[in-house]
Amino acid sequence: MEDLGAKVQSLLGTDRPCRCGRRHVIGTRVVETGPGAIAALPSVLNRLGLAGPAVVMSDPQTQAAAGTRVEAVLSPAGFEYARRVLHPARGRGLHAEERTVAGVEKLIDSATSLCIAVGSGTINDLVKLASFRRNVPYVVVATAASMNGYTSAIAAVEAGGIKRTVECREPVAVVGDTDVILAAPHAMTAAGVGDLMSKPVCNADWLLSHLVREDYFCDEPLSIAGPAAEAVANNASAVGSGDPAAIENLFHALLLSGFSMKVAGSSAPASGGEHLISHYWDMRAPERGRETGLHGAQVGVATLLTAALYRVLKDGWHELVAGAACEESVHGEHGGDAQFRDFYGPLSGEVTKEFRKKFPSEEACRADLASVRRHEKEIHDRVFAGLRDPDEIRAVLSAAGAPVTVEALGIGAAEALEAIGHAREIRGRYTVLDLAAELSVLPGRAAEILKLAKVV
Ligand SMILES: [Zn+2]
Ligand SMILES: [Zn+2]
Repeated sequence: MEDLGAKVQSLLGTDRPCRCGRRHVIGTRVVETGPGAIAALPSVLNRLGLAGPAVVMSDPQTQAAAGTRVEAVLSPAGFEYARRVLHPARGRGLHAEERTVAGVEKLIDSATSLCIAVGSGTINDLVKLASFRRNVPYVVVATAASMNGYTSAIAAVEAGGIKRTVECREPVAVVGDTDVILAAPHAMTAAGVGDLMSKPVCNADWLLSHLVREDYFCDEPLSIAGPAAEAVANNASAVGSGDPAAIENLFHALLLSGFSMKVAGSSAPASGGEHLISHYWDMRAPERGRETGLHGAQVGVATLLTAALYRVLKDGWHELVAGAACEESVHGEHGGDAQFRDFYGPLSGEVTKEFRKKFPSEEACRADLASVRRHEKEIHDRVFAGLRDPDEIRAVLSAAGAPVTVEALGIGAAEALEAIGHAREIRGRYTVLDLAAELSVLPGRAAEILKLAKVV
């Protein structure tokens, strides 16, 4: 098994010019992993010249899983800190949403010189963004190998009912104590595999948006995270059986995926149409009386859908391109803003704003199709070449113990169909979901995609 830890270490604190014209900077300077790694926290802070007073933030679960261990090493080292355990709002879990970020900002006073996040997705996003806004560095003590956001410089935060990524700053240090990470529920570890398995498919989306829309693209982020995701895929059954070395390697792969987003300056190398589908399910959850599911678990299943969609496009590519005409539905599902109001209700303002970023008028679709025709061979040869088949992805997810059906996520077939057709409307990023609409594959053939993905 390839040791991804060495790759992580080699990237820390790097700042390199790239042929894409940008400098690729990774601000995370220390990563400590392994059994009992939390014990190294005082020396990590020392090495980085980070003195207190700090605010240590957790939620009731992560406080029990790791917060008490963190306190047990900070106190004897004479490190000054305040403990802040964030409690969920009544009747709802703790979520990364703007109101909560504002509350967390209030916990960081003018004397605070460091924030320590103890947790995974939600706590990390909340503390990352709040500490950035208060201009205080932060360190994260990870509690699960469940997602790739630890080392990215963006936070996924809900505002106006919709998940958005907000630019902020990566942690100066990450501590991944495998005693803690191995004790996390297996569903969380499996979700980490799901988040990573979107890699080949969302990378196809990124290249596609570059070719069709001339969006920024660079190979460098892909070379950081691609081999790591591959290594995890090849070793998924060891993750599934709880093998400590495989789970530590998964954690390293997730950190590398975070670095790839930092280097790209956006979530593009790790988030395409499959993430929009997952965000769509999150967005609809409250009104449909569901709790939002684990991000990576949803992303894994959504990846099966976009991989199946790509297969349909690839199989009929030249005929689809030849026969494409810009149908009215491309510019706004069912026609326009009034229909958005009916379909999205109170969320329609936000959705319309995002959707019009990429489809301001009918002209956008015509321009896309002209671009697709210009790059017809290149999309076929380069974009489709990097994909993985849905059956292969399913085998990896199953081996890791991750869900492979929408039912396992608590989502019905009707909502899966709905998400394939509508998820593209909630974000301004161009993905395969848009291309499929422009080629009249969606929403008409959504049921076929669902079947091919075998998610129902
Ligand atoms: Zn570059
Ligand atoms: Zn993700």
